[in-house]
Amino acid sequence: MLKINDIDVYYGNIQALRGLSIEVNEGEIVTLIGANGAGKSTLLKTISGLLKPKKGSIEYLGSSIDGKPAQTIVKCGISHVPEGRRVFSNMTVEENLELGAYLRKDRDGIKKDMEHVYELFPRLLERRKQLSGTLSGGEQQMLAMGRALMSKPKLIILDEPSMGLAPLMVKNIFNIIEMINKEGVTVLLVEQNANMALSVAHRAYVLETGSIVLSGTAKELQESE
Ligand code: ADP
Ligand code: ADP
Repeated sequence: MLKINDIDVYYGNIQALRGLSIEVNEGEIVTLIGANGAGKSTLLKTISGLLKPKKGSIEYLGSSIDGKPAQTIVKCGISHVPEGRRVFSNMTVEENLELGAYLRKDRDGIKKDMEHVYELFPRLLERRKQLSGTLSGGEQQMLAMGRALMSKPKLIILDEPSMGLAPLMVKNIFNIIEMINKEGVTVLLVEQNANMALSVAHRAYVLETGSIVLSGTAKELQESE
């Protein structure tokens, strides 16, 4: 589904990714694990069109997407939930979800998908008229994921969804990631919490200073730890 081949990504003179290659197959949950500064967020931003690789290629469903603007990439079915659960805090939960569908025109489909997001996240339904800035961290994470789902992605990219959340909420979020995946959405997940990530992932890559140093099935990587 997604084939990243030998990419180099720079911030000015600083090289953040070095000849990096990964593959994500349709239907999988793939996790990228690595210490702070390894390049995980950089890779996600490159896939979603916020950064351009200097070298290498990114292929999605058979077409090249590297260098395409972020909006085009959302339109072809890739939705990125950035780190730090950015929600529009002065807008309600419902308005945030509607914004997630801003590139769509199918009113009936949008309505149905919003109902489905509320089924996945009943807490958001209870709070749908509430300003997002008043939600807890975990609820904001749910909203950020819900908003991403409103663009009807085939591939959802999650950057550190568990960061700063209480253990029960983390479990909740990971259960929902598995549910979304069972409904047919492919997942690329970045996590510092390797154990948690490996417990839901099919395959994993370990990133170190901009390169992949290890890859395998989640089971293989759990055993090698
Ligand atoms: P991770 O997500 O694994 O913590 P990042 O992708 O954020 O890692 O960072 C990879 C490298 O790129 C780090 O060395 C980081 O300092 C550097 N970096 C990240 N963002 C910027 C930026 N905006 N400008 C310059 N360097 C950056
Ligand atoms: P960084 O500084 O970490 O590189 P930015 O703040 O520039 O990230 O934002 C990255 C992307 O996320 C941009 O395309 C920006 O428009 C988008 N973005 C920022 N805030 C929000 C938000 N509240 N909701 C949706 N997208 C947002």
